[in-house]
Amino acid sequence: MTGNNRVTGLVAETKNKTITIHAQAVVLAAGGYGANQKMRGTESEGIDYYGPMTSTGDAYSFNDKLNLKSHDLGWYKVYPHGVEVEPGIAKLTTYASKKATDMGAIYVNNRGQRIVNESDVYAKFRDAILDQPGKVAFMVMDERTWKEVYALLVLHDFTAAEIKGYFDNPDKKPVFVKGGLREVAQAAGINSDQLVKTVRRYQEQAEAGEDPDFGRDAQYLHQFDGETFYVVEQRDRFATTLGGYSINPSTMQLKNTDDQDVTGYYAAGEIVGGANGHDSMPSMMNTWGISSGYLAGLYASQAVEAAETASAN
Ligand SMILES: Cc1cc2nc3c(=O)[nH]c(=O)nc-3n(C[C@H](O)[C@H](O)[C@H](O)COP(=O)(O)OP(=O)(O)OC[C@H]3O[C@@H](n4cnc5c(N)ncnc54)[C@H](O)[C@@H]3O)c2cc1C
Repeated sequence: MTGNNRVTGLVAETKNKTITIHAQAVVLAAGGYGANQKMRGTESEGIDYYGPMTSTGDAYSFNDKLNLKSHDLGWYKVYPHGVEVEPGIAKLTTYASKKATDMGAIYVNNRGQRIVNESDVYAKFRDAILDQPGKVAFMVMDERTWKEVYALLVLHDFTAAEIKGYFDNPDKKPVFVKGGLREVAQAAGINSDQLVKTVRRYQEQAEAGEDPDFGRDAQYLHQFDGETFYVVEQRDRFATTLGGYSINPSTMQLKNTDDQDVTGYYAAGEIVGGANGHDSMPSMMNTWGISSGYLAGLYASQAVEAAETASAN
């Protein structure tokens, strides 16, 4: 409900009912827009979504008439360690992938080349994967490692039947393949001659305890054991959008495109753009959600109280 750059309540619509609530202040806390394919910008291309389907971005349409100012709508919080389980949709493999690299697994691209120090910080992994053809990497491991990876996948959100289905359908995504080195390369679409060279070089480096190519710490350089290999794709993924509406940070009020505060209209959480920059630190999104919610509520109630006091005098 708007008028004269002011919000005076809201109208909630369901299939069967419409409710009108009059209020002197409203806090908008409708979350992000990651589930809305149409709203996503180029930065998210090739990166799978693993967030809630409730991040619809509805607020960006129902606030149309207020001409609210927004910024950096193309910013996303991107992580490595995902597999594409449906087009554009990821499941995360963080625990399993971390275990695999601790046990010596390597990451290669479709040319069969290693791409990164597999034991480096997540941000380095993430960026290395984004640089590869198709924005995809392949985790190569031996059977000893796969057994641990499998146990962790089943513990964290994958079923045994799902995983079996991936191996049984090598032509479909996600890529999960097993076999000899050339066999897995072919099934995963990796250059097999180069993969053989890469694995041979890695075996030598692991034996020597030194990785001159990427500087991987010796404690994570473990030789592959046996002739059976497993390859699992690795894609980047996001759940959280980092851009959004602009607010006045001193009052938590939303701003319009003329840079004026909208009277009675406050915002909190992921709907607010840029609160955590281009790459939020761990746990900062929830911290922002809680602290901004507290502040928006506080400033809204203080403004209402002040207005009531002024009108009583
Ligand atoms: C899988 C996952 C893991 C995460 N892990 C972390 C983490 O470890 N640490 C961290 O800090 N952050 C993490 N985050 C991010 C963090 O959880 C979110 O940024 C935060 O929860 C956003 O809170 P919010 O209240 O702004 O939005 P939300 O929690 O998304 O709430 C918005 C609500 O608005 C509702 N809504 C939207 N449109 C409408 C409408 N038109 N009508 C009625 N209701 C509507 C939605 O249904 C939803 O309930 C994670 C997110 C996900 C998805």
